Amino acid sequence: MNLPRHLYVHVPFCARRCAYCDFSIAVRANVPVDEYLRGVRAELAMRFASGDWELSTLYFGGGTPSRLGADGVARLMQLLRERVRLEPGAEVTLEANPEDVSVDAVRAWREAGITRVSLGVQSFDDAVLRWMHRVHDADAALRAVDAVRAAGIDDLSLDLIFALPEALRRRWPHDLERALSLAPTHVSLYGLTVEPHTPLARWRERGEAEEPPEERYEAEYLLAHRLLTAAGFDHYEVSNFGRPGRHARHNSAYWTGAAYAGVGPSAHEFDGLARRRWNVAPYAEWVRRLDQGRDPEAGQEELSEESRIAEQVYLGLRTSRGLQLAPGEADRVRPWVESGWGIVDANGRLELSARGWLRLDSLAQHLTILRSH
Ligand code: SF4
Repeated sequence: MNLPRHLYVHVPFCARRCAYCDFSIAVRANVPVDEYLRGVRAELAMRFASGDWELSTLYFGGGTPSRLGADGVARLMQLLRERVRLEPGAEVTLEANPEDVSVDAVRAWREAGITRVSLGVQSFDDAVLRWMHRVHDADAALRAVDAVRAAGIDDLSLDLIFALPEALRRRWPHDLERALSLAPTHVSLYGLTVEPHTPLARWRERGEAEEPPEERYEAEYLLAHRLLTAAGFDHYEVSNFGRPGRHARHNSAYWTGAAYAGVGPSAHEFDGLARRRWNVAPYAEWVRRLDQGRDPEAGQEELSEESRIAEQVYLGLRTSRGLQLAPGEADRVRPWVESGWGIVDANGRLELSARGWLRLDSLAQHLTILRSH
């Protein structure tokens, strides 16, 4: 593939598995930084032609990239800079968990080139955090926010989870107010879902946890929309809110169908046209293959015409940019507009509202079927 302007690097390490998490992670008390960096170096050398490679965004996701520590992140950045050039003003995001964040660590990350921190706060309620098996408590999250700012990074995103089981008595308005009081530039929301093979799925099987009713999911989502937009955030994607000028540029590239590269276990990439590929997910297998000089690819696919239509519809509808309607489609979506699920602007673009985003999957499916026949 041509060298894309967006690169995702997966850092799989976590201190332990959170109750709801089904991501590709490697639980390690001691992070094998040297081994991981050796793998990244080998994958870059093996899979990407040498030559000028300029990035406008670079994203370290996980797992918990902050578990590489101050020195590990700096070494990873140095290794990448041997291969890529960052354009002036490039966005370089590091996902971090509060327990890894100190002023010294963030200062080292900033000096290494990190421009943006995405902090896994999830809640400010200690009982909720314990239930989730998170390592940090609410005070650690507050200290982490202070540390990020004190070390000179002002582009700070907070992750929050909503729609938790009723029995936890989580005060969602309180968590939202608390998050707003910290003046982040960006907020990402995750509605809790029970994924197979997670501790949460086992708790549910044993009757020890239950998902909240749909009405509460909707009410919490709409409350977040109201409070955050009233505070000046753009609700620019179904799960993401950003201050004007602070929308996540890396993730926005995914949502516009741009080409991106991916390195690390389970990392995906897309050529911007129709081809996707992804790496093996288990960390040990990724390392083993690279040590043997083998490509860590687990699979690839060429999107069919129908999948491309589905993807184009879904990507358009999930963001506030909306989807350009084809002739005749405005009539078909009029009932949606009348139900308050979106608007069709003067140029014929359908933009879903927060109520519409609650039905994103079914609306996207409906339009895809219309377009495929
Ligand atoms: S810290 Fe994130 S990636 Fe790691 S187990 Fe928890 S939710 Fe999963």
